[in-house]
Amino acid sequence: TVQPPLLEVDDIHAHYGQAIEAVRGVSLTVPQAGIVALLGANGAGKTTTLKAISNLLGPERGTVGRGRILWRGEPANRLSASDLVKRGIVQVLEGRRCFAQLTVEENLRSGGFLRRPSSQKLKADLERVYTWFPRLRDKRATRAGLTSGGEQQMVAIGRALMTRPSLVLLDEPSMGLAPIIVQEIFEIIDALRREQGVSFLIAEQNANLALHYADHGYVLENGVVATSGRAADLRLRDDVTDFYLGAR
Ligand code: ATP
Repeated sequence: TVQPPLLEVDDIHAHYGQAIEAVRGVSLTVPQAGIVALLGANGAGKTTTLKAISNLLGPERGTVGRGRILWRGEPANRLSASDLVKRGIVQVLEGRRCFAQLTVEENLRSGGFLRRPSSQKLKADLERVYTWFPRLRDKRATRAGLTSGGEQQMVAIGRALMTRPSLVLLDEPSMGLAPIIVQEIFEIIDALRREQGVSFLIAEQNANLALHYADHGYVLENGVVATSGRAADLRLRDDVTDFYLGAR
């Protein structure tokens, strides 16, 4: 028997009110231990697609119309955040939102709450995150709001990893960060995939960056998939890479 892919998104539609059809029939697949890039310019529908998958769109915030979301082959439309986490899906929202007043470690611990782990397990999970992000160990007692933008992004990803996910949905992880720190973050993502088998669906405007680490890419334009393919092939296409460098 053939294993179904980890995540299959089939012809989803999402709109804000009557007028704005932000996503119009997007289909994509994320394999086990895969990194998939969701590319596109500002407003192309990347964030809306991620939110449709993690059920963050509601009647007021945007509505998901038709379409199917399959998780390991099973229907997974409109699951609550805690049901998603139980299945192993977690989203890191755009803008790396941390609790600024809490310490780095308190932020990470807050990620463990959905699983209600024993304090023993929580400690082990914290250790794992510190192993992946040594910078966070150094800053564990520092208020998150006082750390750098890159460290805050690490806190946001680390908090998601506290749920021991199989799939992390990442929204614009490079936004506003220096290239050197972005590279550090993507190297850790790559290691998590290789060594732990974690999958990532990453929305990125920076196509060159994302395609360097991804296996597969989908290019959104006005809410539809305009192009998709192996990252190695998309990397060679100027129309994909130039666009996001502002050449068009
Ligand atoms: P960005 O890089 O800015 O996040 P994106 O590719 O993620 O862009 P979306 O944020 O998904 O794009 O937006 C898709 C479309 O939906 C855009 O036309 C946007 O203006 C519209 N849109 C997004 N959020 C809302 C909202 N809350 N209410 C109304 N329209 C929205």
